[in-house]
Amino acid sequence: KANRKFHPDDTVITLPTGQKIGDGSLALIAGPCSVENEAQICCVAERVKAAGASFLRGGAFKPRTSPYAFQGLKAEGIELLKKAKAKTGLPIVTEIMSISHLDLFEDVDVIQVGARNMQNFELLKALGHVNKPILLKRGLANTIEELLMSAEYIMAGGNDQVILCERGIRTYETFTRNTLDISAVPILKKLSHLPVIIDPSHASGINWLVEPLAMAAAAVGADGLIIEVHNNPSCALCDGAQSLTPDQFDVLAKKVQRVSETV
Ligand code: PEP
Ligand code: MN
Repeated sequence: KANRKFHPDDTVITLPTGQKIGDGSLALIAGPCSVENEAQICCVAERVKAAGASFLRGGAFKPRTSPYAFQGLKAEGIELLKKAKAKTGLPIVTEIMSISHLDLFEDVDVIQVGARNMQNFELLKALGHVNKPILLKRGLANTIEELLMSAEYIMAGGNDQVILCERGIRTYETFTRNTLDISAVPILKKLSHLPVIIDPSHASGINWLVEPLAMAAAAVGADGLIIEVHNNPSCALCDGAQSLTPDQFDVLAKKVQRVSETV
């Protein structure tokens, strides 16, 4: 179902509120790694909206490497995202980690499956029965073919609204958090009709690398970007080192739109 052979036209994902991914424009999804409090998420939401983002991201359930690290505000985080949405009109994108939480995601606009759950097949099957877009991130050490098969799990259940996300993979390079596989964009777009976005924040782990990688993503024809933005990165509870300030995001947004218009 994800294969372009049987579906030559690009899939365009349109939310009930009108925002689109895959229509030829560059969709910007931005917000903090984690929702921390009402002031933080609302401030970031207002700023990224003003800069041109059409979706707000923010983690409520966080898949942290250490069990002692901040795990997210969970249900309260989703409530705070809903407040930010009510204030700005931005649809919300947030990660699900367990099928048992699905009820909490009723008002979430786009459900994210994180890299660590790309092959959680029971979760993927459950999301196949959900009537909303699923943002499926490539696993830390998964091939393009495996990513497409995971999309297939969701689509096999009847949910065609899958957005693929390249977020960097593990290589021997240690300078960056991951290595952005930029060629994944044209390859995925050749093999599949699904929209493809890039996450330059998790791909690099370094805030000054986010903009050049975002420019490359726009140049290679990505349908969107998902970028971490925090009102005070040095105090962020998660991923401060790769988070942009709202001012930095504003600059990036203008530059990537210019690139995107020329491709
Ligand atoms: C995230 O987007 O917050 C995240 C945890 O990303 P990934 O699953 O790509 O590591
Ligand atoms: Mn993060």
